[in-house]
Amino acid sequence: MSSLPLDINYKYCKACGICYDLCPKKAVSGDDQGKIVLRNPQLCVKCGICESHCPDYVIFLRR
Ligand code: SF4
Ligand code: SF4
Repeated sequence: MSSLPLDINYKYCKACGICYDLCPKKAVSGDDQGKIVLRNPQLCVKCGICESHCPDYVIFLRR
């Protein structure tokens, strides 16, 4: 049982940075290769910006 706000399909992330550049809360950031990391899930306000802007549909907001 998990209460994480996002499901992330990590293997499809191409490290473009759009999601963490746009996240207003810095809930997501990049790892050392630039791939998405849900670093501060408690800060996520479920705005959906990351989900709707990821070009590769890596991120799914849990609604
Ligand atoms: S926007 Fe999508 S592809 Fe780009 S870094 Fe974020 S999760 Fe990865
Ligand atoms: S849903 Fe909004 S607050 Fe949560 S990680 Fe995505 S952009 Fe950031």
